[in-house]
Amino acid sequence: MSKTIPVQKNDYIQVEFEDLTHDGAGVAKVDGYPIFVHGALPGEKANIKVIKVNKGFGIGRLAELLERSHFRVDIAKEDSHKYGGCQLQHISYEGQLAFKENQVRQVLTRIGKLEDVKVHPVLGMEHPWHYRNKAQVPVGEKDGKLISGFFKPRSHEIIETDESLIQLPEVDGAIQMVKEICSELGVKAYNEETHKGDLRHIMARYGKETGELMVVMITRTPDFPNKNKIVAEIVKRIPKVKSIVHNINSKRTNVILGDKVKVLWGSEVIYDYIGDVKFAISALSFYQVNPDQTKVLYDKTLEYAGLAGNETVIDAYCGIGTISLFLAQKAKKVYGVEIVQEAIEDAKRNAELNDITNADFAVGKAEEVIPKWYEQGIKADVLVVDPPRKGCDEALLQTIIEMKPHKVVYVSCNPATLARDLRILEDGGYKTLEVQPVDMFPQTTHVECVALIELR
Ligand code: SAH
Repeated sequence: MSKTIPVQKNDYIQVEFEDLTHDGAGVAKVDGYPIFVHGALPGEKANIKVIKVNKGFGIGRLAELLERSHFRVDIAKEDSHKYGGCQLQHISYEGQLAFKENQVRQVLTRIGKLEDVKVHPVLGMEHPWHYRNKAQVPVGEKDGKLISGFFKPRSHEIIETDESLIQLPEVDGAIQMVKEICSELGVKAYNEETHKGDLRHIMARYGKETGELMVVMITRTPDFPNKNKIVAEIVKRIPKVKSIVHNINSKRTNVILGDKVKVLWGSEVIYDYIGDVKFAISALSFYQVNPDQTKVLYDKTLEYAGLAGNETVIDAYCGIGTISLFLAQKAKKVYGVEIVQEAIEDAKRNAELNDITNADFAVGKAEEVIPKWYEQGIKADVLVVDPPRKGCDEALLQTIIEMKPHKVVYVSCNPATLARDLRILEDGGYKTLEVQPVDMFPQTTHVECVALIELR
């Protein structure tokens, strides 16, 4: 039975918002029919224009705000609110943390069917701006000069911006400088439509504790004009630079990095510290982008692991071994597994760098390597997983259920897949005791969580 939709495209209507979607849009209901409006907050009344009418939901645009939420604050930068990933800029930080806590709760109940899990208030930042240690920005051209900024959604158009609200100034500064140098020395921007030109993206990564900077130029072609001169200028004009890397991505794709990496100048890695542990980080390796909150996240992970010193620990999706080495200080033995070869090389180097001798690392898929370890008799007392957004592979979860480590600590950057995977573990004999959200990404809709799970 099809219900009639109570609104039409281009209608102007007055609504009251009652909720936020996971991507930060306000939700209002007209006779039960939900309409999503970006920039609107729960508790607010507004006149909206209906701009799209789908079967199950509509989309509207704010026309006039009639009643403001006490969580609403002025937007510092319109373009980054719209395009730059700072979708929660219009919400006070207190409001952002409340939104994230609520989202975690809702998802655990709705997707995970977990009713009685303790969800703690989100651990937030004291100063929730300019925290990111890494950025990769697309490069375009305007009036014969290189520009950088954000891609306008669903287009090849670049919205020019030279300062971000969430990146560390060293990162922003380096990107601007590399862009200027390349522009002066005649480098052409890559054009997505024609698949011509050279420079696609500029990436910068900064070790906040060491002051070391890496810049990466990502080009379509193996060579680009004035390469040596550009390198010399970067060294001259960016004093903190320790590593200049060239990454070649010749494919027609929106994936940013290619897999060919050449060090043009300096070291192949930069270093950083989290707590007392020193890390080498290379261009293609994953490294958490919010160094201050990473410490908070790893401390919580270590606390949940509750190590006494005689445990065997597996760290699945270990990246450059960050969590593994944190845990190794308190465990008998740690095994880390990760799919990116370069990251495992970093992990081994990082163990050496910190004189940690009780950590072993393997390259491969967690869902293939861990079952093999299990066959060989390697059995974890505590197992940590920190998968990418899509969550754990089902085969890995089944291995965990068979192996029966008494604790699983799940670090997750996506509450929806966390909830899905927790349900599988619950059905396999585990119980989720508590979930601690940590705000790794202020101003954005992203939420990070650590969950403590025990064998029943
Ligand atoms: N624990 C690390 C990295 C977490 S990010 C840290 O805190 O820094 C997730 C990592 O999982 C990435 O390094 C990614 O390369 C890796 N990865 C993705 N799919 C994988 C798989 N199937 N098996 C093992 N590692 C995988």
